[in-house]
Amino acid sequence: MNGARGTAEAIRIYIRNMPILLAIGALLLLALVFGPQLWIRHVLKKYGADRPDLPGTGAELARHLLDEANLPSVTVEETEGGDHYDPEAQSVRLSPQHHNGRSLAAVAVAAHEVSHAVQHARSEPTFMRRLALVRQLGWVEKLASAILLLSPILFAVMRSPALLGLQILAGVMLLGIRVVVHAATLPVEFDASFGKALPVLLRGRYLSAADLPAAQRVLKAAAYTYVAAALATLLDVWRWVRFIFRV
Ligand SMILES: [Zn+2]
Repeated sequence: MNGARGTAEAIRIYIRNMPILLAIGALLLLALVFGPQLWIRHVLKKYGADRPDLPGTGAELARHLLDEANLPSVTVEETEGGDHYDPEAQSVRLSPQHHNGRSLAAVAVAAHEVSHAVQHARSEPTFMRRLALVRQLGWVEKLASAILLLSPILFAVMRSPALLGLQILAGVMLLGIRVVVHAATLPVEFDASFGKALPVLLRGRYLSAADLPAAQRVLKAAAYTYVAAALATLLDVWRWVRFIFRV
């Protein structure tokens, strides 16, 4: 008797605390999805302060490192689209604060992006595998996104349950592609930061020993940038899952 009453009481407590549990779950999910991006922004801002004692701006260091690596044809450009290396245009693109700035963040990010150009020039297997993957899967991702975007409209008009199946398939495909691309991206990013940029910065004495821990933090942030941004886009997929199942 007592045992049954105890169980009932436990269930009652559980149900009473359900909203709290759900709120904690939602907070954890938000922290997981947006935490890495906030951390990266914090690190880049923290070490983005002007340091007149550094030998040059991010763009100047990138140009110098590219010439040193015998890659005079790779250009250095300013972009509003976030720091990256564009393999199609063979261009190292830096955001204004890293292109024109003379800061620890600018130096470390410039060295990281130049490392991608070096990976490309040397046709390193991990880099080439990721590039091929993005090229091959690009159209699948576009198709799946289009299906996800259009199917609610089509469903409203046609009311066919088959569309729902197609939508779920497209969502799963999109998720699968992103996971595969990220799994292939992380080794490329870590090699750029710690296999190449850090040794180059050390060897060239572009930074003093006192600045190395900070540069390492920026290089870590640079390595996680892509995955952190991709994590946030997972919420798009989640929004569609909620739409389909009306949860
Ligand atoms: Zn990178």
